[in-house]
Amino acid sequence: MQKLLVANFKMNGNKNFYKKVNKEINKLKSKDTVILCPPFVYMPFFKFKNKNVFLGSQDIAEIDNKKSTGQINAAMLNEFAVNYSIIGHSERRANGESDELIAKKIQYAQKNGIIPIVCIGLKTKTLKVDFLVEQVKSALSLAENKDIIFAYEPNWAIGSGVQPTVKNIDKVIDVIKTTASELGFNATVLYGGSVNASNFEEVSKSKAEGFLMGTVSLKLDELFKIFKGI
Ligand code: PEP
Repeated sequence: MQKLLVANFKMNGNKNFYKKVNKEINKLKSKDTVILCPPFVYMPFFKFKNKNVFLGSQDIAEIDNKKSTGQINAAMLNEFAVNYSIIGHSERRANGESDELIAKKIQYAQKNGIIPIVCIGLKTKTLKVDFLVEQVKSALSLAENKDIIFAYEPNWAIGSGVQPTVKNIDKVIDVIKTTASELGFNATVLYGGSVNASNFEEVSKSKAEGFLMGTVSLKLDELFKIFKGI
């Protein structure tokens, strides 16, 4: 199965780092889809030769409105050939981004030809099905395109080096897919949280259709091993 491999560089790196990423990615031969999400200012460094490598943003505005200091709208992302956008990352939710705002961003991205990668979290290790279902329902409340990508990212697994079991990942993926399907959507579900070259084989046993990766994105040797399927 062709996987979706998403590198979220967060607020890291510099010109030299992204020039290197661009150089390396253009040598990559991967059968998987690779999505690189650098900070906005480094997007112009990327020009891809491979058809299965794409740019993604780490966020998007929810409206074209020009009076929105600091935000980036879809027209700007389209100019830099950005095809995907991470929406509702737990780090943004922790900064006050609400389910309602996330739903608007998903609708706005879809209307403007940008594919949302919607992060769905769990704050504790306890599997709270109702909490998951509510996040999925809210995320889809304004969505028009029936194909949607979710990333299951337990907050406690992000950047911690700790991961849920394959069984737990599979259970959550089932909840997300079933909820989406009952609402008429076809969900692709990724997993994110401390994925690295050492645990990649283990998490690949799950039903996840790809991975969203933070910390490992800064270790290019490891990241490219993952991109090559190790
Ligand atoms: C993330 O922030 O989306 C993430 C998955 O980070 P990490 O890989 O560092 O856990």
